[in-house]
Amino acid sequence: MASLGIPANTIAVLQKHGFQFQKKYGQNFLIDTHVLDKIIIESEITADDCVLEIGPGIGTMTQYLAETAGRVICVEIDDHLIPILKETLADYDNVTIIHGDILKTDVNDLCATYNDNKPLKVVANLPYYITTPIIMGLFESHVPLSSITIMVQKEVADRMQEGPGSKDYGALSLAVQYYAKPEIVANVPPNCFMPRPNVGSAVIRLSRYEKPPVEVQDEKKMFALIRAAFNQRRKTLVNAISNAGIYGITKDDVQAALEKLGLSPTIRGEALSLSQFAKLSDEIVHQK
Ligand code: SAM
Repeated sequence: MASLGIPANTIAVLQKHGFQFQKKYGQNFLIDTHVLDKIIIESEITADDCVLEIGPGIGTMTQYLAETAGRVICVEIDDHLIPILKETLADYDNVTIIHGDILKTDVNDLCATYNDNKPLKVVANLPYYITTPIIMGLFESHVPLSSITIMVQKEVADRMQEGPGSKDYGALSLAVQYYAKPEIVANVPPNCFMPRPNVGSAVIRLSRYEKPPVEVQDEKKMFALIRAAFNQRRKTLVNAISNAGIYGITKDDVQAALEKLGLSPTIRGEALSLSQFAKLSDEIVHQK
């Protein structure tokens, strides 16, 4: 099968199957060989790796992955793409195509079945409408993985790298930075896709930490506090957390914890670092 990274080959496959792009599935297929090569290099895949690809589309990046990795598991939601994938990936015996919704797929189970519970590498040109739930789902379900190399909206990639004081700093930045080291490895303009998205894109590599950079007694509670803080980011931390009605935490609880940490009672969540959120969470765990 000819390389789908070449636009004429992609067009021929789409025409042969009468494929109609589905906007609801965030379908923007890659048609740039340089970008595809760059993703393969930056994901640092070797023949020992088992790669999970989310949303293979017509199998363009899957072909590149199959040439480099030991095994590729791809999960695609759109029924119309399954027969196309079977055809475009027919030459590869190391690819498994799974028809399903990644948000409803038990990735721990896939890892056990196809990789003996050894860490997977995730590589994907993500459907942008569900970028955050996909990333959070992978981290929070503690799937064994060594890295996630993904194409996302440029603005979202920036958000993952930000720290306190930036307007883009938020719950996603903190979650990503708790689990992984983020690094933007390429900026990708709209003309590298078919159809063209109306936003810029970036490839970001998230290298999973073996141990998070901060210690916290109750990870779940810390993330509940973080979500509450940024759901009402213009409010003080005291108000944002107590308004959220989580774990019975009151204004007094938050005020007491802030005082213990030597932080202002009027501080906002956007001013706290990951390590300060961890300490705040530990203080509140002690009170409850
Ligand atoms: N990997 C292909 C490429 O680079 O050309 C396609 C990328 S396209 C941005 C996103 C792909 O994810 C589409 O094929 C879309 O159908 C698929 N998709 C969307 N939502 C999904 C979901 N919930 N689970 C699995 N795949 C999904």
